[in-house]
Amino acid sequence: MYSLGNRIAWLQGPGANCAKTNPVAPRPWHLVLLGPPGVGKGTQAEKIVAEFGACHLSTGDVFRHAARNSGGTAPSPAMATALAAMKRGELVSDATVVELVRERADCLSCQYGFLLDGFPRTIDQARALDGILGNVKRKLDAAVNYFAPETLIIERLSGRRVCKQCRAGYHVANKPPRQAGRCDACGGELIQRDDDKPEAIRTRLHAYAATCNPVLEYYRKQGLLREIDASGDPDSVFAQTRAIIQKLV
Ligand code: AMP
Repeated sequence: MYSLGNRIAWLQGPGANCAKTNPVAPRPWHLVLLGPPGVGKGTQAEKIVAEFGACHLSTGDVFRHAARNSGGTAPSPAMATALAAMKRGELVSDATVVELVRERADCLSCQYGFLLDGFPRTIDQARALDGILGNVKRKLDAAVNYFAPETLIIERLSGRRVCKQCRAGYHVANKPPRQAGRCDACGGELIQRDDDKPEAIRTRLHAYAATCNPVLEYYRKQGLLREIDASGDPDSVFAQTRAIIQKLV
């Protein structure tokens, strides 16, 4: 059982130090997790990390971290534009996201391996990722695509709540807190992410539908694509994820 990788360097950027405190898995995994927002990639990533090791690297987490931790200083113009796009549920420009990943290339070559979650989302990002990985002499093991019906995804996203203090995740129906509106772990206030509000959900799903097919095709052609039906509960979905990873050995 591994604990979540130390992601300080990933969240903060190239200047940050990653304290490599967790046990190193016998085999570093290099996986891309694909699928629409709300399909459960983040939950599966946590389970993969716990069982197989690797660092969970989410581009959405970098933007959310930047939004929370500007520390009173104004974000750079590129980051301010990115955060405004995120709030509306739109995709951030390829140039900004690729640069953000490129400057964290050390995270892609580290001994823990990685699970990229939320990147690549467009064909240009997929091609750019291959270039970045080539530079650090790494190759993908697989691109795992999670799919589920849109009605289910909307239900999952619109019911999602997160603790304002410790970021623990809840769902009003599937994983309610013991006391409504309060975090079980720290008592913090539970809030809905701006981009989980109805208008932003529609925009996010639209953005996904407009860009996903070329990315899936790109990985299918390379023989890297694996497909998983994510409409079941997290443990049954993870049984499929585990089977796929074990076959890659
Ligand atoms: P996520 O948590 O992956 O759903 O990402 C949250 C938001 O961050 C997205 O709705 C986008 O605004 C932005 N974002 C994250 N990753 C990317 C990406 N690879 N390309 C463009 N925008 C992204």
